Amino acid sequence: MSQILDEVLAANQQYVQDFGDKGSLPLLPGRRFAILTCMDARLDPAKYAGLAEGDAHVIRNAGGRASDDAIRSLVISYKLLGTREWFVIHHTDCGMQLFTDEIIRGLLNQSLETAVIDETGWQDIGQGLGSAEAQFVDWLTFRDLAESVRVDVQRIRNHPLVPATIPVHGFIYDVKTGQLIEVPEATEAGKVKVAATRVVGK
Ligand SMILES: [Zn+2]
Repeated sequence: MSQILDEVLAANQQYVQDFGDKGSLPLLPGRRFAILTCMDARLDPAKYAGLAEGDAHVIRNAGGRASDDAIRSLVISYKLLGTREWFVIHHTDCGMQLFTDEIIRGLLNQSLETAVIDETGWQDIGQGLGSAEAQFVDWLTFRDLAESVRVDVQRIRNHPLVPATIPVHGFIYDVKTGQLIEVPEATEAGKVKVAATRVVGK
């Protein structure tokens, strides 16, 4: 077994011992909200947003982007599991700002091994064949952090499968302080839309 595997299984054994009555938690998230955020190892949504098991849905991907798959999860979260308020939380110093689609496509075209970054940019040091498959992936990189939060909130707000009644809040998590900083233009974009009046008989 790898050392990491040992450590994970040992930690889990401890968790099981302290599990208490969490086995009786219901499937539906108790506090009825969902967070879409980045997979960055420095972010712990349970801690930065005060979550316990059973409280909320947390959907994570590289960048915390509103990808089709993230929206799939959010729609299930609302439609079948009853959340009624959503957060999009990106963060400072995000790795997604360190490359572009063009860069990662070029790197993967050369080698599948881990690349390194130095003052001249990304370099492939790995051996072996790469793949051109990377050109078919939208890597959802971004330059402007606040803008990426706004764009993602707006995409969710305007998605045909997302009801107008769910508020979507936009925030940036500061990795230096742990603070959540609102992106006002994102939250504005994510406001509940006034329900259109349906005219009976038309
Ligand atoms: Zn990130």
